[in-house]
Amino acid sequence: MFGRLAGWMEATGADAALVTHPVSIAYLTGFRAEPHERLMALAVRPDRAVLVVPWLEEEAACAAVRGAEVRAWRDGEDPWAAVEAALGRPRRLGVEKAHLTLASWERLREFLVGAEPVDVGAEIRRLRARKTPEEIARLERAAGLTDEVVGRVLRELEPGRTELEVAAALDLAVAAGGATTSFETLVQSGENTARPHQPPGGRRLRSGDLVLVDAGAAWEGYRADLTRTVVLGEPPDARQRELHRLVLEAHDAAVAAVRAGVTSGQVDEAARSVLRGAGLGERFIHRLGHGLGLEAHEAPSLDPGGGTVLEAGMVVTVEPGVYVPGWGGIRIEDDVVVEPNGCRMLTRTGRALRPAEL
Ligand code: ZN
Ligand code: ZN
Repeated sequence: MFGRLAGWMEATGADAALVTHPVSIAYLTGFRAEPHERLMALAVRPDRAVLVVPWLEEEAACAAVRGAEVRAWRDGEDPWAAVEAALGRPRRLGVEKAHLTLASWERLREFLVGAEPVDVGAEIRRLRARKTPEEIARLERAAGLTDEVVGRVLRELEPGRTELEVAAALDLAVAAGGATTSFETLVQSGENTARPHQPPGGRRLRSGDLVLVDAGAAWEGYRADLTRTVVLGEPPDARQRELHRLVLEAHDAAVAAVRAGVTSGQVDEAARSVLRGAGLGERFIHRLGHGLGLEAHEAPSLDPGGGTVLEAGMVVTVEPGVYVPGWGGIRIEDDVVVEPNGCRMLTRTGRALRPAEL
């Protein structure tokens, strides 16, 4: 990992880098922690790397960190003194511009007088986007558990349960599988399914409802992300069947378009053109998908018109949806690995509209 960052330093002329985003630190060192308001930072120089952590993280950091020394600071001490000792006097310093606060930069400038900041964040995001076989194995395990949990909970859905109760059942099943949840589980029912980010609430499921579940398990920090939409109890009506069929067709078209060398925008367009052709272009109100890894949303982003060229080893979601205010919404989301001539599905839950057919 440091070798690749050293290459970036050479190319950009940076003497050192200070990495502060906990996810970047996890990626580069293997140590996953959330330090909250305390300072945690990885100081990288061409010849050495030092991870500065709060004292209460010292034991865990020493056990997990690969390729860096660990320096702990105690509450009451100035953590920036350890950063200063580790960084030396760089003239050009790599920082994560999207993460480092202005207050932290002003503090750094007190001892790095005249140092010029250059963004190392884009390079770390680019490195993270292409997964190693070990990372893909973790994502695969997360996806397998997610399949099992979502399939089971959807087959056991019953009228009368609230969205919150179904979300809790999903979370409990993930925990029983020895994993954590990737993000806050979404369960929406009836007209609530028209709002893609609405959290679960007290609405009780009724027979004939659309029920949308968007959930994922995380294995050793690597996150799966799966959405299924079903109709509870009664046979789906004609409109539910028709919109579900179109979303499925859009999903198939996008999966068929994924391979190394195509752009993110081409994959988005494969799905969007299906829905546009059916007069539903304005009802597909978000991008097609996003990268998955240590974060549930990471690079690459599959946006309309996006120019990112997909590379083998990237892992992305494919999640077309249509949302009709007052009626409801349908989204189908799977996780795929980009390969030289196509893609491989990581999630495999059936995509049927009736829970019994999943
Ligand atoms: Zn999702
Ligand atoms: Zn997603």
